[in-house]
Amino acid sequence: MDKKVKVAVIGGGIAGLALTTQLIKNTHLDVHLFESAPQFSEIGAGISFGANAVKAIHLLGLSQEYEGIADQVKAPYTDIWFQWRNGYTDAYLSASIAPQVGQSSVHRADFLDTLIPLVPLSNVHFNKRVQHVKANEDQATITFMDGQNIEFDYVIGCDGIHSVVRNHVLDSHQLPRIQPQFSGTWAYRGIIKFKDFKQAIEKLGNDLEIADVPQMFLGKDKHILTFPIRQGEEINIVAFKSDRTQTKLAENTPWTFPVSKQEMLSDFADWSESCKVLLGLIESPTIWALHEIQPLKHYKNKTNNVILIGDAAHAMLPHQGAGAGQGLEDALILAKLLENSELTSESIKLVSEIYEQVRLDRAVKVQNTSRESGEIYELYSSKYSDFESVGQHLAHRFDWLWQHSLENDIRTAQVALENQLQKTAIFA
Ligand SMILES: Cc1cc2nc3c(=O)[nH]c(=O)nc-3n(C[C@H](O)[C@H](O)[C@H](O)COP(=O)(O)OP(=O)(O)OC[C@H]3O[C@@H](n4cnc5c(N)ncnc54)[C@H](O)[C@@H]3O)c2cc1C
Repeated sequence: MDKKVKVAVIGGGIAGLALTTQLIKNTHLDVHLFESAPQFSEIGAGISFGANAVKAIHLLGLSQEYEGIADQVKAPYTDIWFQWRNGYTDAYLSASIAPQVGQSSVHRADFLDTLIPLVPLSNVHFNKRVQHVKANEDQATITFMDGQNIEFDYVIGCDGIHSVVRNHVLDSHQLPRIQPQFSGTWAYRGIIKFKDFKQAIEKLGNDLEIADVPQMFLGKDKHILTFPIRQGEEINIVAFKSDRTQTKLAENTPWTFPVSKQEMLSDFADWSESCKVLLGLIESPTIWALHEIQPLKHYKNKTNNVILIGDAAHAMLPHQGAGAGQGLEDALILAKLLENSELTSESIKLVSEIYEQVRLDRAVKVQNTSRESGEIYELYSSKYSDFESVGQHLAHRFDWLWQHSLENDIRTAQVALENQLQKTAIFA
């Protein structure tokens, strides 16, 4: 039997783990996942997946696992992603519709828990923090913090926004290394009981759809979002406040820390009663400094044997609920390329260029439009300066992102790889 191709996956977040569930199915690959933490883990918060991400989950063959834990809003609101409202008055502006998917959301930890059993522990190495990666035409060498060096044919960096694999990719093209940039936006996060919020909205005599349907309350330099998780029993809340002139964090400021309810409420003191009740139900809020990375010119290194996926490649602001979804699209395209059983330790390098061509422009567009979306929600965009024009625009702003054909991307990628493999066979 031919020698197996040695593949390293660095980082077991949503992107790395989803990818590994697929790679381990291939008998021509010898796959090892290295995770710096002692176990897989996710933060205690919800995550929402757009129609494109739900499609990626389906094409990755993970629908059954996902549907077992995912929330979909109940009829007649099934197709609604979010309703958009004026945050000072609750006035309805519009809704964004994603047919058959609407708002699809899960608790992050639940999602990771469904993926973990799909990856045999023999393929996973915990407490293995990568220090750096180096590569030449023949191989890529991973150096770990514990001093160990291991050589691989192909290395996939899924190591998140602080990626060290990204350093190697940039170095190899003689491009400057980049650091995550603070956006000037802070996000308060919390989870509350649905029944408590519904009762409070009933008591106020306000529109019950505010509790029953995912909401985005918009205002000047602030917005609040809600969506259901855990079979509708809980509501995930994120409340954002921005000062886009303050994009430098004081040294040693942590990216996330607990805050008092008082502090959070005082930021929204002039908002509607529904919003204040909603935030008042969060028992122990935390606050997050939102960072992104500037779009990269390359996801592959110069010698084509190291590649980036997920936040390592395109960490973005969360305003389209699309960051993890883009990581899943990356995992899907890469998995569909790497499943080609003709690949050898030499020809696997052909995958990198094709992956970058299929993925980079779209992921960069999602990064840029995520930032712009936050500006539009917070009446900061000069293009849409009042609630009415914002509402009209948002109703269809995300159609291009959700309705994209991932099947076409897979076909394009696989045909390109077949052609390349044939060409190399002819010239061999
Ligand atoms: C407030 C907020 C809300 C969001 N909401 C949404 C949403 O609704 N929908 C959505 O799609 N996205 C959302 N996102 C974005 C989403 O959370 C990320 O895009 C996604 O979690 C990134 O996954 P990842 O696997 O690429 O990276 P990570 O989750 O960061 O995983 C990286 C993994 O690599 C490991 N690692 C790191 N360095 C090393 C190393 N040197 N060696 C070995 N292992 C290493 C880490 O321990 C970790 O397990 C949101 C983000 C924020 C901040």
